[in-house]
Amino acid sequence: MKIETICVQGGYEPKSGDPRVLPLYQSTTYYYKTPEEMAHLFDVPKDGHIYSRISNPTTACYEDKIAKLEGGVGAMATGSGMSAIMAAVMNVAQKGDNVLSAASIYGGTFNLFKITLPRLGIDTKFFTNDMSEEQIEALIDENTKALFIETIANPAMVVCDFDKFARICKKHGILFMVDNTLATPYHVRPLEHGANIVIHSSTKYLDGHASCVGGVIVDGGNFEFDGNPRYKAFYTPDASYHDITYTQEGGAAAYILKARMQYMRDMGLTPSPFNSWLTNMGSETLHLRMERTSANALALAKILKASDKVDWVMYPGLEDDEYHEIAKKYYKNGFGGMLVFGVKGGRKDAENFIRNLELIKQVTHIADVRSCVLHPASTTHRQLSDADLIAAGIKPTTVRLSLGIENIDDIANDVINALNKI
Ligand SMILES: *Cc1c(COP(=O)(O)O)cnc(C)c1O
Repeated sequence: MKIETICVQGGYEPKSGDPRVLPLYQSTTYYYKTPEEMAHLFDVPKDGHIYSRISNPTTACYEDKIAKLEGGVGAMATGSGMSAIMAAVMNVAQKGDNVLSAASIYGGTFNLFKITLPRLGIDTKFFTNDMSEEQIEALIDENTKALFIETIANPAMVVCDFDKFARICKKHGILFMVDNTLATPYHVRPLEHGANIVIHSSTKYLDGHASCVGGVIVDGGNFEFDGNPRYKAFYTPDASYHDITYTQEGGAAAYILKARMQYMRDMGLTPSPFNSWLTNMGSETLHLRMERTSANALALAKILKASDKVDWVMYPGLEDDEYHEIAKKYYKNGFGGMLVFGVKGGRKDAENFIRNLELIKQVTHIADVRSCVLHPASTTHRQLSDADLIAAGIKPTTVRLSLGIENIDDIANDVINALNKI
């Protein structure tokens, strides 16, 4: 099936007489008549559902759809994007280990890697966009368990050069993890470019309606754990689950089986079945929303570029954008719905632009069907001085705009009026 068809029909196949639409199983527990049936599931958990902290039929269908959309062998949905990233890392790294991460990443992830995981004994070595392959390789040691990067960094708009990072990871036998939240599989499928694990904040485009916080991890099934000294926990018996060996029990889906049996079971990162059901419904229109949102973003990027009230625009779909050539290599069907631009003048002018908008609302969100806007310097990054802001790749005049699926004329009028009223 092509992406568009998977969006609509993937993950749920009704049998004769079943509901046509994915049913919501809002149940914590599952009935089995015989002790033997129940015992079997404790031995081979992937054969059925026991308890909704670990798995649920509605969530399972939604997970299957996302796995198919990304071209993976399995997926695990979580209660948030942050818990997906945490579980994805903890599934391979423990006390004494480290991960490599791009420095330009989502602020919440940066804090997780910089402060919270180190408190648990998992360190992060950050690499910057200007570092060569050799410089990044020099950061790798025997305890390095993953390389993490975003397909397109939020909000720095740096596009990932997959070939470069896939080469590094292959050479050193390290898991390649990609946060594909902003690109979505409609535009980029990281597993086709050498990634092994894909992560989403489903709060964004997968849901698309700003109604459910959630996350999901997709297992590419394309990493050889067996015999790799970095990943002994995958091919030696695990005392935490009566000596299960994940590569034997899970086969190609060993990674996601381990994530579920250890982290979902022990830490309870579970999404509610209702959120899985809503997010699944949102994902049915992912392809249509991405098509419109990308077209709107490109059109607005060109309008902004031509405005004398605007200093600069970053959008990978613009031909003279710093990342256009890289983006062209990996993106299909457009370049996504988020752009960043600088209002001419100073911090106050950017704030006034936000104040002047009417249709486009200021929210701490992106990837909604409704266009939305944020001024990082006075909100998400407000503690930073102007000098620290610039070091973080954000200017005092930077505005982040996430295009919705409204009519482009209404969006553009709102933006132009707000710029003219500054
Ligand atoms: C929002 C976001 C996250 C965090 O996800 P939550 O669902 O808010 O926990 C992670 N990565 C990226 C790229 C995001 O945009």
